[in-house]
Amino acid sequence: MKKGSIIVLSGPSGVGKGTLRAKLDYDKLNLVNSVSWTTRKPREEDIEGVTYHFVSQEEFEQNIKENGFAEYAGFSSHAYGTPKKGLEEKLEAGKNVMLEIEVQGALQVMDQYPEALSIFILPPSIEELEKRLVGRNSEDEAAIQQRLSRAKEELALQDRYRFKVVNDDLDRAVKEIEQIIQENAPTNEK
Ligand code: 5GP
Repeated sequence: MKKGSIIVLSGPSGVGKGTLRAKLDYDKLNLVNSVSWTTRKPREEDIEGVTYHFVSQEEFEQNIKENGFAEYAGFSSHAYGTPKKGLEEKLEAGKNVMLEIEVQGALQVMDQYPEALSIFILPPSIEELEKRLVGRNSEDEAAIQQRLSRAKEELALQDRYRFKVVNDDLDRAVKEIEQIIQENAPTNEK
């Protein structure tokens, strides 16, 4: 069986990665999600084992020692990582595996798996991203400024990715991502 491909969907906080991912046709694209480990607390919409594996800091650190992550990074004072075993098993089973991760982790994946389809999601403009960050939560001005400055650092790394998609129109951006996967990974339509 042909091995599946890794799809890295990445880009700054507030750019709409999660919304885009949720609209993709997983059946058609022969796609499954990688389930990340995280030390952050579950939110109301989270389901253990589906959205994340929620673990303690100790469990996370132990897995780092055992070389159990394909990549890991810190974000907002929590740790997030892609378990290597789950990823390899899904690829071996011929599935394309979606990693929706932040930029530091994405760079690690691109180093280790140069054949990965890396997709950077861009905001229509930096002003628009700022608007979205302000609009989506009740964080104070300092926290928003911190996210925005990290977003700028992340935007500077966009050329490291194989593909870039501007999230100006949701449906159009979804189509573009689907096309990238269909043209470059084993899907159910070929
Ligand atoms: P949230 O806490 O809102 O679910 O996620 C925060 C950030 O962590 C998002 O940018 C998300 O893409 C990223 N993230 C989720 N899982 C992983 C992971 O396994 N590795 C890395 N590097 N980032 C992740």
